[in-house]
Amino acid sequence: KLPQVVIIGRPNVGKSTLFNRLVGKRLALVDDQPGVTRDRRMGKAGLLGLEFEAVDTAGWENEDDASLPGRMRAQTQVSLKGADAALFVIDSRTGLTPLDEEIGQWLREQEVPVVLVANKAEGNAGEAGILECYSLGLGEPVPVSAEHGEGVADLYSALIPLL
Ligand code: GDP
Ligand code: MG
Repeated sequence: KLPQVVIIGRPNVGKSTLFNRLVGKRLALVDDQPGVTRDRRMGKAGLLGLEFEAVDTAGWENEDDASLPGRMRAQTQVSLKGADAALFVIDSRTGLTPLDEEIGQWLREQEVPVVLVANKAEGNAGEAGILECYSLGLGEPVPVSAEHGEGVADLYSALIPLL
């Protein structure tokens, strides 16, 4: 059985783009609008020869949903069950939002090892966001650009000791 890696984060940070990058097929729906990924999507992922099952989630969509702390969290919790590691994706261009902090705090309470992924880090636009997300207390962020395929080797290095 392949190790399972679940991709978590608030809407629009690039979870589905990262999933597509890792899985290499258009299995996840990517859209500019938040809330597009309705289901969990799974796919066999390859990262520099490391194979795992990637899970794209939408568990923290509906930012306005009053039931977020309950139902949405429960959905993500289900995704985490049986996961060997989580990729917590933030948008290094917009920086941290309250929802990022909330998800980060929640993840710190889970048993699953977490790799903090600072996406959209192509160019210099993400530098402040990369520094800022050290404050999440989830270790060193791995800057990547899911869209441009940058940071893949560093993601591999961060993930491989966890699997
Ligand atoms: P999700 O809601 O977290 O699944 O995010 P998506 O994968 O649907 O991406 C949301 C938006 O961010 C889309 O417009 C993507 O094209 C864009 N995006 C994703 N990855 C990157 C990246 O590495 N750099 C930039 N600049 N944009 C990205
Ligand atoms: Mg998505």
